[in-house]
Parts: sequence; structure tokens; C-alpha cells
Amino acid sequence: MNRPLYVFYGDEILTYYFGPSHPFNQKRVKLSVDLMKDLGLFSHKNQLLPIRQASIEEALAFHQEKYINFLQEVEKTGDIYLDQGDTPSFRGCLQASLWIVGATLQALDAVLTESVYAFNPGGGLHHAHRYRASGFCILNDAAIALEIARRKYGINKAAYIDIDVHHGDGVFYGFYAEDWLLDLDLHQDGRTLFPGTGFVQEIGEGGALGLKRNIPLAPGASDDSAMYAWREVIEPSIREFKPEMIVMQCGADAHYGDPLAMLSWSNNTYTNFARSIAELSEEICNGRLLLLGGGGYKPSNACLAWAAIALTVSGQEAPDSLPDSWTEKFKEAYGYSPPESILEPETQDPRTLQSTQKTVQNLKALIQSRITPS
Ligand SMILES: [Zn+2]
Repeated sequence: MNRPLYVFYGDEILTYYFGPSHPFNQKRVKLSVDLMKDLGLFSHKNQLLPIRQASIEEALAFHQEKYINFLQEVEKTGDIYLDQGDTPSFRGCLQASLWIVGATLQALDAVLTESVYAFNPGGGLHHAHRYRASGFCILNDAAIALEIARRKYGINKAAYIDIDVHHGDGVFYGFYAEDWLLDLDLHQDGRTLFPGTGFVQEIGEGGALGLKRNIPLAPGASDDSAMYAWREVIEPSIREFKPEMIVMQCGADAHYGDPLAMLSWSNNTYTNFARSIAELSEEICNGRLLLLGGGGYKPSNACLAWAAIALTVSGQEAPDSLPDSWTEKFKEAYGYSPPESILEPETQDPRTLQSTQKTVQNLKALIQSRITPS
């Protein structure tokens, strides 16, 4: 894993702002990038790069024109909700969304033309559908990037992995019948969490049957469940499909203590997943790996998880303690002290592990019975 890592960030993404009392706030992305800087991540071959705004035409690679026209009208006043009450519009909301998409598209271009890993921690807005906003997501930068990878760069087979605690429904159903995209989604069981979807039985349709795989986890599921699902489903699925590139949405809201969800992963899972996905990308697709952020509603969790991912894919170990310079910035921004280290004890929960094992067995049996000729 000697490839450089390019991280794309600009303060323009702070304009994606739903107001002071809303749980989604891109300030945590700024603090994450500050942590990467203060850890010395960009002192050698890795780079922190500015972002550009995507065009409407690029957004239309995934979204319907009618929806984009609607957003163009709505962003003039920003006075309505875009869904049932989670995602308010605001003045300039389409423009702000286009900055996030632009950052993801620059990261995509870097991965496909420059032999680097790329990370947009401000991206990963996986709930937006082709024709509507949902779950704090107005435009789906991940889905737009996947479409553009196929249409502009000629990628014939891609894998999308989503480790956000919420099901990545915008991407999952947006490409449900598309046989060029393997979609692997690890999340908290939809019976207990927004958006209420993402079940084992949903495995794609038509030529894509078996290429969409959900691994719903019971509330409380810990590092042992995460690693089991990774080893048993994610790794072998990627090896079997042999994608030409991998996009991973790295939402940090499955980390324990997240105020909106109930999984119990520690930073060990983010570190292990990052190491494994970088190795797999080297083995399968010449290191073409695009990383995106996502959810994460306890700001220190998001900062630590994304810094752990960035350090790991660039082959660096997390230090025992965090830089004082960053701890001070974090305290000033949020009014509380972050943990002293990225390193955390592993979490285990034998009861939920058993349930994960059963879920994985059910998924494997279903795929076997539906796609293997008898
Ligand atoms: Zn989420």
C-alpha cells in the first residue's frame, strides 16, 4: 500500500448546512481534515487538495431532470422540507450539494487517472434517490460518481461498499437491476433504524440477481460481528466479482456512542476495514479505491474514524495520543474534549455475533439457491 492518498476538502462544503439544531453538520469534516493535517498525514507523498463544484449536467448522470429543476426553484427561498421532515431545504442548497459532488468527482478522477487512493470525507450522501432527497442527502455524490465512472471513464464493473450504520438505499435501489455494480451494504437492521430497508432477501433483479447483498446487524453488534461479515461476505464477494474499481462509503455512525444509532463498533473496525479494502483494491483492481465519508453524528467519532482510515490506507500507524493542537481546536468547536487516542479496545458481543452468523448463512444460502443452476 505505497500509493499516495489524495484527500479532497474545501470550506465550500460548510455551506451544506441545515441549521444549528440539525444533527448533520459538515464542521466535523473540517475537524477531521484538521486532525489528518496535525497528525502529519500530508507531510510526505499524500496531498490535501481543493475542490471544485460539479455541474448540473454531472448531477444529471444519476438524478432526474425534474428533480434537479425542482431543487433549482426550491433553493431560491429554502423554506420547505425536501422529505418528510429530516431534510430541510435552505437557500443555495443545490449549489452547496454540487460542491460535495464536485469533490467526489475530483477524487474519482484522481483514482482513475493518477494511480492514487482518494478520499472525500465530506461525501457519501447515500440516501438521495434519483428523484428525491432523503435522510439529510440532497444529491447522491456516490451514485453520480459511479455513473460517471461507467459513462466517462469506461469502467465496466464497479463495487460499492457501504459501512454506514444506515442502509445506503439511494445507491442500492438506484442500481438494483444494474449488473455492472456489485453493492455490499453492512448496516443496522432496518426494522430498528432509518430508512427501514436493506434486508437479506433483497439481492437484486434481472441480470443483477445476486449482485446486491445486505448484511443487516442487530442493535449492539460489535467489532466481532463487523469483522465476521467482512470476512464471510465482503471479501469473497469482491474477489468473485473482480471489479475494476471500488467505492467505499465510510459513514462513521456505527461507532459506539453515536446518538442516532445503536451499533457498537470501535475504531478497530474502521482500521481493519481500511487495511483490507486497500489490500483488496491492490489485489483486484490496481489500487483503484475511492473513499467517501457519510454519517457520523458524534463529531469525535467521525474525526477519529476518518483519520484512522486515512492513516491506514497510507500505511501509517495511529499514534498513541492525539496532537494537542488538534484537541484544542476540537474543544473550541464543540465544547468538550475528544478521546485522547484513536486507538480503542475492541468490542465484542457474543449474542449479536450469533445473530450475525445466522444472517450471513441465510444470505449465502439464498444467493446459492437463486443464482446457482440446479
Ligand atoms: Zn448514516
